[in-house]
Amino acid sequence: MKVLKFGGTSVGSVENLLKVKKIVESQNDDVVVIVSALGGITDKILAMARTASTTGTFNETEMMDVHTRHFATIESLMAPTTALAVKQSVQKLLDELANFLKGISLLREITPKTLDRVAGMGELLSSTIIAPFLDAKWFDSRELIRTDSNFVKAEVDFATSNKLLTEAFSGFSGRAVAPGFIASNDKGEPTTLGRGGSDYTAAIYAAALDASVLEIWTDVDGFMTADPRIIRKAYTIDYLTYSEAMELSHFGAKVIYPPTILPVLQKKIPVWIKNTTKPDEPGTLIGYEKRYGKERIIKGISSISDISLITLQGAGMVGVTGISMRLFAALARKRINVILISQASSENSISIAVHASVAKEAAEEVAKEFEHEITIGHINGVKVEDDLSIVAIVGENMRESAGIAGKLFHTIGKNGVNVRAIAQGASELNISWVIKTSDLRKTLNVVHESFFLSSYKELNLFLMGIGTVGGNFLEQLLKQQQKLFEEKRLKLKLVGVANSKRMLFNRDGIDLENYFELLNQSALLSVFSSFVEHMTDMNMFNSVFIDCTASEEVTNFYLPILESNISIVAANKVAASSSYSNYRLLKKTALSKGVRFLYETNVGAGLPVLSTINDLTNSGDRILKIEAVLSGTLNFIFNTMSSDVSLSEAIKRALAYGYSEPDPRIDLSGKDVVRKLLILAREAGYEIDEEQVNVSGFIPDALFERSLDDFWMGIKQLDADFEEKRAKVQSENKCWRYIARFDRGQAHVALEAVNTDSPFYHLEGSNNIILLTTERYNEFPMLIKGYGAGAGVTAAGVFADIMRIANI
Ligand code: ADP
Ligand code: ASP
Ligand code: MG
Repeated sequence: MKVLKFGGTSVGSVENLLKVKKIVESQNDDVVVIVSALGGITDKILAMARTASTTGTFNETEMMDVHTRHFATIESLMAPTTALAVKQSVQKLLDELANFLKGISLLREITPKTLDRVAGMGELLSSTIIAPFLDAKWFDSRELIRTDSNFVKAEVDFATSNKLLTEAFSGFSGRAVAPGFIASNDKGEPTTLGRGGSDYTAAIYAAALDASVLEIWTDVDGFMTADPRIIRKAYTIDYLTYSEAMELSHFGAKVIYPPTILPVLQKKIPVWIKNTTKPDEPGTLIGYEKRYGKERIIKGISSISDISLITLQGAGMVGVTGISMRLFAALARKRINVILISQASSENSISIAVHASVAKEAAEEVAKEFEHEITIGHINGVKVEDDLSIVAIVGENMRESAGIAGKLFHTIGKNGVNVRAIAQGASELNISWVIKTSDLRKTLNVVHESFFLSSYKELNLFLMGIGTVGGNFLEQLLKQQQKLFEEKRLKLKLVGVANSKRMLFNRDGIDLENYFELLNQSALLSVFSSFVEHMTDMNMFNSVFIDCTASEEVTNFYLPILESNISIVAANKVAASSSYSNYRLLKKTALSKGVRFLYETNVGAGLPVLSTINDLTNSGDRILKIEAVLSGTLNFIFNTMSSDVSLSEAIKRALAYGYSEPDPRIDLSGKDVVRKLLILAREAGYEIDEEQVNVSGFIPDALFERSLDDFWMGIKQLDADFEEKRAKVQSENKCWRYIARFDRGQAHVALEAVNTDSPFYHLEGSNNIILLTTERYNEFPMLIKGYGAGAGVTAAGVFADIMRIANI
């Protein structure tokens, strides 16, 4: 004998019912089929009952919908002759339901007992249709499963039920259909086994009838590593032990109703979770033996929302026996289900997690119990925290593995989620913890990613600024996205983007082919603060903020961004070259939050300069001297100037090629080079501020103090003088380089004429060169040379920083 249970979706449409029929007909054994109500019907009936009791109205239209759903199903499934008799039976049940609802509306009151009577109608209706459709004998679960009178969630009397079931099925062979969810008490009054209880019904039948297997047919491919509605990367678990399945369902995995496992466990009946619409998928097997070896340590993660935490705290509790006993006795008096218990080892607080709907009642009862202790001050009182969720990871193999909790809470903490309470079952089968519900999605995502080695890693990118660098970066991202996914299992998802006018967010990822149009259509006007607010509100895991602006204002948000556990990749130099104290603070914050603050492109565009300095210093080397040509723009300008190309013309070309800062004065004043030198020296481990850099300008200061237009006019007047000097330098076989030097604490930048022996002489176009003299690279300094400006290489450097964050 096999027991097959089909859930609400499986019996909820004609299309699926035809699949059910196929599945049942393919069995080569006697079968008992337990059915749920047609999908959504239980909810609908309960809503109608609630409305009737609160507003005193009986909603004819809703009732008509229920009628139509069932009648249409009958008509589609059966020949008219069979249909007629079935319709009569169904009509009788519907009339009964309508009468009950009318009664409730008149009384404006609903008791748990009445609620059970109407709630169970859904299963009576569905089984009345499905039994003849499957050519099966109908059995009345109300007569076969006996419960106590705890309506809405009755306790099963197994001794009586097992006897009734074995008697009813003695000598039976063939096909049976019975309604799930419903039972009755010893007075014959209908009860229900709790929402989702049809699974339990099936398990009770299976255990009583010594079935060879219990199959739970539902709308997903099996028991999954996490709730597939929240975690898209969740996948089917092939095998679970009874304990693991019980634990996961207890902590919220809705795929089976928690009490379901107990009856079958005692008889070691294997349970399969299968998908009605995809019967060829392997599904999940739940069984008795533990399987070691290739099994994962953690099998699944589940969660429960609408949780409140009730905490009893006070110095007077330490070492006093009986506190827990009284606490739980108080809760038991009110039949309050405690989902999690956490006690600090100092014993001065006990926290219990309960469903929010009973939190008030629970807190009152606990306060009453400890009234005396509270009055005399031994206990501070009863604290209630709302809007919480519980998350649990489950796996039998956790017992043999050390360090799981460490890894777990490190991962969660790194993503900025605050854990309110933690509990680990003594069996070490699960670790559960309480968090704010607003952090739930993020927590499930990070934990799933880190423990289930999901097939790929994901970074969520927020990009501010789509000018030359930002725009180029998105082009590169579009080109690389697929390849990175396929070859590196890295998913880079753009979830927020802004230019100076508008901003756009999409947690599922913004289409990179059309981001520009989408951004233009966005109704959100671009404001830095609100971009940051949106980003933090989205609260996504593995978030990275990419700053491709040159704005100082944006950098004011770096600290709160890092504090929200979001990494920063900055092409913007302002922050790293701001005051030394701010630079340190940002680095320290990133470190303490476990996120990254990277700005490789601040010096030498895409050249690996900062990462090299870091590698050297991390390995114990010491940077003694830095000599560098750091301005691609200035180098381009000096290389372009000739007897035919004047200074002003060369500057214009630098701007046109996108080498210079949008305002070229930043390059020409030497400010840009000073910033870069500061960053280099700081990365090399020196504490240095801008005032300590000695700058020799080559353009009169006055030109930097007025408007940009005045600057362009003024610079033209310098052309002749510059050409004269340039010709002289050239005649001496030298060339101009704007060189930054840092030597044991002394920093200066100046325009120098270098001869052909200098490593700086042969430096084409906009190239940069950096010479690092270190304790190890002493006689021959390390030399890094290449393009030092340009949108393409800078964007590539941004990309490299992101890859560093992905740690690939
Ligand atoms: P049925 O009506 O067949 O009893 P349910 O809706 O009660 O189906 O349970 C199946 C649903 O449980 C799935 O559609 C899925 O959304 C949800 N679910 C939550 N957690 C899990 C999980 N870990 N594995 C599979 N499904 C889950
Ligand atoms: N129909 C009931 C419910 O919706 C029982 C079940 O489907 O398992 O809760
Ligand atoms: Mg269910």
